[in-house]
Amino acid sequence: MNKIKRYAVFFCLMFCLVLLGCTLPSYGKSEAPKAAKESVVTQETGAEDTDTDEEVSEEEEPLEFTRTKAKLKCGKAFRFKVNRDDVTWSVSNKKKAAISKNGKLRAKRYGKVKVIATSGDESVSFEVKLVPKKIVGIDPGHQIRGNNGTEPNGPGSSVMKTKVAGGTSGVSTRKPEYQLTLEIGLALKDELVKRGYKVVLTRDKNEVDITNVERAQKLNKSCDVAVRLHADGAASSVRGASVLYPSGNNPYVASLSADSKKLSECVISSYCTSTGIRNRGLSQRDDLTGTNWSTIPVALLEMGFMTNTADDNYMSSADGQAAMVTGIANGIDTYFGY
Ligand SMILES: [Zn+2]
Repeated sequence: MNKIKRYAVFFCLMFCLVLLGCTLPSYGKSEAPKAAKESVVTQETGAEDTDTDEEVSEEEEPLEFTRTKAKLKCGKAFRFKVNRDDVTWSVSNKKKAAISKNGKLRAKRYGKVKVIATSGDESVSFEVKLVPKKIVGIDPGHQIRGNNGTEPNGPGSSVMKTKVAGGTSGVSTRKPEYQLTLEIGLALKDELVKRGYKVVLTRDKNEVDITNVERAQKLNKSCDVAVRLHADGAASSVRGASVLYPSGNNPYVASLSADSKKLSECVISSYCTSTGIRNRGLSQRDDLTGTNWSTIPVALLEMGFMTNTADDNYMSSADGQAAMVTGIANGIDTYFGY
């Protein structure tokens, strides 16, 4: 190939390239804007759709409570509300509280519970303090060993009495009184807590050394009433339950006499109804250290005679104990008007 031919081919190629170069841009100019426009429209439409979604969710406020209560007393109910209708309600502890499908919370046991509202992916919770109906003090009488030291049998009294007596024991079961009173005390606590009370026990084991004055003082601190649990001892034929309370002439707690009597009546009545144990009634006693040091209404329940075979066996049977606990708890409910 000579030089001229090579130039001719070169120029032809260049010419073709120039032509292509002009044609492509012109093609781009005529078509590209259309495509670009379409893509812009599509994007804008898409963007608009997204914006619309966001605007809708912005209009629907975040899930939040519109009606709450920070404290709720056991036995009471309160309806919680949120800013939505499509809500599922739940609670963090079903033993402590129940919640209905429309957000009505019912307090069962004292403590804390979280109310949870769920709507779609969103969930909010609110902590509620469940306040006990009342605080009940229970003193399971005696302890593993009596304490023969002495203490004043009332505030300011010069009369000294044994700190803790030894107690009686079961003629048939051979069970010591301190063990029986502890069994009933612990079961009574469980029952009262289930019913919405808070319970303070003077002791939850036998291996303690707590005087009668100290027991009263422990319950005085926070309780609304004190129930002292004991069992009797006498001749083997004697049976039945009684309850001891301070008289209106008591030098220390006369002002508590009326309420203590009411508490005693409520407890002995429902106790004997529940158990079928013979009702020996109420007795006024002003010589009991644990009663005289009380600053709250106080009843000492003699649950039955451990020296009587029938009473003794009954008080240690599972059915008997369940009935005893139900009876005492019913009496406390009646006293407080529940
Ligand atoms: Zn006793």
